Amino acid sequence: MVKELLTPKNQEYIERARAVAENVMRPVAAKYDVEQTYPWEVQRAIREAGLSGVWIPEEYGGEGGGVMDLCLVVEQFSRACGGMGVGYAVNALGSFPIILGGTEDQKKRWLPDIASGEKLISFGLSEKDAGSDAGGMTTRAERQGDEYVINGEKKWNTGGAVASLNTIFAVTEPDRGARGISGIVVEKDAPGYRVGKHEDKMGIRCVPVVEIHLDECRVPADNLLGGSEGRGFKHAMMTLDRARPGVAAQAVGLAQGALDLAIEYTGKRKQFGQSISAFQGIQWMLADMGTQIEAARQLVYTAARAADAGAKNISKLSAMCKLMATDVAMKVTTDAVQLFGGYGFVKDYPIEKYMRDAKITQIYEGTNQIQRLVIARSMLREAASSGD
Ligand SMILES: Cc1cc2nc3c(=O)[nH]c(=O)nc-3n(C[C@H](O)[C@H](O)[C@H](O)COP(=O)(O)OP(=O)(O)OC[C@H]3O[C@@H](n4cnc5c(N)ncnc54)[C@H](O)[C@@H]3O)c2cc1C
Repeated sequence: MVKELLTPKNQEYIERARAVAENVMRPVAAKYDVEQTYPWEVQRAIREAGLSGVWIPEEYGGEGGGVMDLCLVVEQFSRACGGMGVGYAVNALGSFPIILGGTEDQKKRWLPDIASGEKLISFGLSEKDAGSDAGGMTTRAERQGDEYVINGEKKWNTGGAVASLNTIFAVTEPDRGARGISGIVVEKDAPGYRVGKHEDKMGIRCVPVVEIHLDECRVPADNLLGGSEGRGFKHAMMTLDRARPGVAAQAVGLAQGALDLAIEYTGKRKQFGQSISAFQGIQWMLADMGTQIEAARQLVYTAARAADAGAKNISKLSAMCKLMATDVAMKVTTDAVQLFGGYGFVKDYPIEKYMRDAKITQIYEGTNQIQRLVIARSMLREAASSGD
């Protein structure tokens, strides 16, 4: 990271986030990974540090930091614990549809509590049979008088067990395909709303990922985002364009955290009478890891800045940074385990957790195969429209 390329405000967020990461998250990361319970003490520390609403506009109680500052905070959190990084970032994923598509009244109703950390929010797009093809969802919302009645099931709801609000995507007009999908904010005490199975996960174990059951779930009609039906899928895709750099930042943080540990370990570990970091073979690995991380980081920052600058077609850059950074995280964390030798394979050191935490970044918010589709389609469209 080149600090001089960042604004004083960016640097301030990094410092505040790093203090929470090192003083609060790192000491308890292993404990919550084993217990697979939600770290409320960490959530309190994030609130106390004033970081809960970094990406939320100031007029709704946030810091107005946008995607870039969100990424900087997520990177620092994930450097200490990938699960705590996503436990934080998922609130941006859940609230972007309100920021991007909500009415003024809806923004005023929900965003200040999210910005203060009073309420957590999750994002319910995926279903058992609708993952990469999210538009194939079957959860149905029907308007009945002043209410929507929702029936269906959401799968893989990150943070759903601890969130007070859930942005649920459901079919309101079944014959219109993706144009018949709407976003509806559902409060956890809505009748017919139930948290189901908790997944037993490989990584990011401190954040609950759950099924959500909606059985004749009734919500006020004015919880429909934007006030009119059929805009939900568009808002979900616009949300992913802004949230994918956050996943990429999680990946960069994980990779950097693993490299930090690898540098420390290879400096101390002695074989053949010297530190293993004195061997050129090890140095070349460290050099490649550091180079890949810096390249990924700069692509993440470029995508985040493009989103904040209101650039057009951020889908391509956003998918590119997610694809590259998450592949780098998997490579770097695997190499870091290798550098610990046998000690990397056991839980005496925190390094194996980095590799486990990294894997999900290649899968959620669109797998890396899907990112390649987004990138290629975008490139082909650009070429066709420019006549090249
Ligand atoms: C821990 C975790 C947390 C999650 N959190 C959330 C959340 O908070 N909210 C939410 O809505 N969702 C969430 N998800 C869902 C996640 O986004 C999906 O798992 C992901 O999009 C993939 O969908 P799928 O699992 O159904 O896999 P599938 O879509 O069945 O894909 C299976 C394989 O086929 C490949 N594939 C599919 N289609 C194509 C294609 N056209 N071309 C090439 N390859 C293809 C995929 O890349 C993958 O390798 C989460 C998932 C996990 C595991």
